[in-house]
Amino acid sequence: MKHTGLRQPFLLSALCAAMLAGAAPSWAVTDKEILEDGKTTHQIVTNGLGLEGQRYSPLSILNTDNVKELRPVWALSFGGEKQRGQQAQPMIKDGVMYVTASYSRVFAVDARTGRELWQYDARLPDDIRPCCDVINRGVALYGDLVIFGTLDAKLVALNKDTGKVVWRKNVADHKAGYSITAAPLIVNGRLITGVSGGEFGVVGKIEAYDPKNGELLWSRPTVEGHMGYVYKDGKAVENGISGGEAGKTWPGDLWKTGGAAPWLGGYYDAETNLLFFGTGNPAPWNSHLRPGDNLYSSSRLALNPEDGSIKWHFQTTPHDGWDFDGVNELISFNYQEGGKTVKAAATADRNGFFYVLDRTNGKFIRGFPFVDKITWAKGLDKNGRPIYDDSNRPGSPSATEKGTSVFAAPAFLGAKNWMPMAYNQDTGLFYVPSNEWGMDIWNEDIAYKKGAAYLGAGFTIKPLNEEYIGVLRAIDPKTGKEAWRVKNYAPLWGGVLTTKGNLVFTGNPEGYLMAFNAKSGEKVWEFQTGSGVLGSPVTWEMDGEQYVSVLSGWGGAVPLWGGEVAKRVKDYNQGGMLWTFKLPKDLVAKK
Ligand code: CA
Repeated sequence: MKHTGLRQPFLLSALCAAMLAGAAPSWAVTDKEILEDGKTTHQIVTNGLGLEGQRYSPLSILNTDNVKELRPVWALSFGGEKQRGQQAQPMIKDGVMYVTASYSRVFAVDARTGRELWQYDARLPDDIRPCCDVINRGVALYGDLVIFGTLDAKLVALNKDTGKVVWRKNVADHKAGYSITAAPLIVNGRLITGVSGGEFGVVGKIEAYDPKNGELLWSRPTVEGHMGYVYKDGKAVENGISGGEAGKTWPGDLWKTGGAAPWLGGYYDAETNLLFFGTGNPAPWNSHLRPGDNLYSSSRLALNPEDGSIKWHFQTTPHDGWDFDGVNELISFNYQEGGKTVKAAATADRNGFFYVLDRTNGKFIRGFPFVDKITWAKGLDKNGRPIYDDSNRPGSPSATEKGTSVFAAPAFLGAKNWMPMAYNQDTGLFYVPSNEWGMDIWNEDIAYKKGAAYLGAGFTIKPLNEEYIGVLRAIDPKTGKEAWRVKNYAPLWGGVLTTKGNLVFTGNPEGYLMAFNAKSGEKVWEFQTGSGVLGSPVTWEMDGEQYVSVLSGWGGAVPLWGGEVAKRVKDYNQGGMLWTFKLPKDLVAKK
């Protein structure tokens, strides 16, 4: 196996010796390393194994022939009384793993032995307002800093050797309902983050900071009517593109509390120099209060990373009335058609449709359902806009009576929620962790009050089938055809990884980390981790061996919001473990 990275084994040994001798190692994550992460196998310095977020590893030491020999080498408990909802992706640099845990904690761990090097606890205030459990999705690495967002809406930069705070920055007011759960992203010297809080009527925004000192560089609100700014010498100047007119797609003053929180963070495509972020529901959930498309809620946005200006938008659910947040990842990929390369991007929306867009301009190429039951729309028109069935929109309430309840599928937790899909460059398939469920949903009277839940809706989620809710699907983005599916009893809530070794990894709430044959869907390996797997698995090469790591720890939105589904999974144990596996050198199958 060829080392595609810059660092050779002898350099690693030299580094370890330097660390033992107490000398400062020359560790520094560069913009170049971040841009090349998708092709590099000896480290992981982006969320998504590459800024495009394909979650594809070019490693094939581990493959369908030998994966049965994959075995645990160490595990680490996150400890404390905070064992729930572990949803992060580990990062690896120079033999050290950096990972976040529930309640805004960060751990640095020796990737060879599992020995904890340091941990940082953000010591959150009592009045945080996370909508959907006390989760976090990972760190960014830059220079000698480990940077992450907290549930009280701060960015914190830690020294990678000591875990000591280098800078801390308030991004938004947690008392108004803001929080940060996504991993920040670094693009050419800018640290870019979204915010959470759509269930509290916040104004969503995407912002760039100087990763060296936490200075604000630009701010782009995601609700039409709010201005975006670039900051120069501490002063704000308008960032060129308008955020649209206030009131244009929103009635009255509702744009002032419009939600559209880009809570899942974003990805970046170097070919087009565009950031891709998704935005959450318009607030409140009761759509009768806000006639119009309610831009830029439930949309995908392409932004210029230099100033935050919006280059294009594609709204998956205009006038969303079901909490079909449009935050799900938009993944860049190229394919051949008619002898030409199509620069596409794909997303599997909460609303049940899979979309393929032209990522250079946001134009709709094709879309199709990726779950078995969709009731809220009859289909998509030629521009990808849903064809509504008005009888399936929850009715308008009065001051004293709730509105008509409807049964809608998918449920608001989505045909697919936050858990990232993966794209395999060899099979040309997307591997999508999806769920088959519906909900009774109705609207209720609501008024905005700072820091209070701003839904104006009630709901009960229900499974559509007795035998399963989760379905891992292999989807061909060129045809919409499903190559294979694997059913799972509990809803799937973990990320997916795929590799050149023809493997697909994901976890389930039942506690298994599983590997599948990427072409056939045959399960080829599994391991019981002791608690539900909600994390995003990673793989990398160290000392000539291929490793796999994943977080285990049940929690997240399903037990909190899942209605009848929550009852189905109520006996699953919470947890907080970081597991690492490898294929020992002497067990690599000879071809
Ligand atoms: Ca939402």
